[in-house]
Order: sequence, then structure tokens, then C-alpha cells
Amino acid sequence: MEESFMRRAIALSCQGVEEGGGPFGAVVVRGGRIIGEGRNNVVPGRDPTQHAEIVAIRAACAALGTHDLTGAVIYTSCEPCPMCLSAIWWARIGEIVYANDRAGAAAIGFDDAAIYEEVARPLEARRLPLRRLLAEEAREAFRLWEAKPDKMPY
Ligand SMILES: [Zn+2]
Repeated sequence: MEESFMRRAIALSCQGVEEGGGPFGAVVVRGGRIIGEGRNNVVPGRDPTQHAEIVAIRAACAALGTHDLTGAVIYTSCEPCPMCLSAIWWARIGEIVYANDRAGAAAIGFDDAAIYEEVARPLEARRLPLRRLLAEEAREAFRLWEAKPDKMPY
């Protein structure tokens, strides 16, 4: 059963290559069935965020009409990059099952180690510079959120 989910993710990863994307596929499973699937579509879709896991999460959320995938498992053909790991966290997916690992992906040119290292660095030591601007003005949205009686926390 579980192998069939991973085999689908692997099939999507191969399909991704055939269609001009990267070699990555993923499926989101809940209640014993696939509720969303995706393959890497960065280059064909001209969108750097279209990693397989994110495409699969978007499909699952659209299918279920929710932003919350609590109770779901993601089967991904490769260990997630930091962006996808974050999306999986935000979606509240409960478990990640992967096949290829980060080292294997790095060996064929998909190296995300620099991003993992970047996240662990203090802000002032980051390679990608961060500058703060208009912090006081930006706080207005936080005030509005805090005061909103019918907000939907997530
Ligand atoms: Zn990713």
C-alpha cells in the first residue's frame, strides 16, 4: 500500500523529467488515498516555487477546500528542500516519507545544503542580506489582526 504511494511519486518524478521539469514527484495521502499529487514544474511553469511537494500540497488543498492537511502524509521521491519542508509544516502534514536523499540530489546538481546552512545562521551572518524598513508602519497589519474578532487563526 505504502509502496504504491511512493511508486506514484516516483512515476511523477520521471514524468517531470520527460516534460522538462526536475526529477521530483510527490503525492499527499490522507485516509488511505491520494488527495493531491505533483511533479516538479519549475522550468515549464516558469515558477521557482513549483517543486513537486508544493504542487501536490496545492492540489490536495484545492481538492479538499482547506489550507489544513492535518492527518496527511506526503510521499516524495526525494527528501524535501527547505522551501518544501516549510510548506509541509505550514500545511500541518504529519509525516514525510522520502526515497532519494539530499546527497543524491546534490550529486546531480540540486544542492540545497546552502539554504539549510543559511537558515541556521544568525541574521547578520546570512549570505542573502536582509534589511529592515518601515517596521512601525508595517505593524499596523498586526494590530488589525489582533483586533479582528472573526479571524481564522492558522
Ligand atoms: Zn522543494
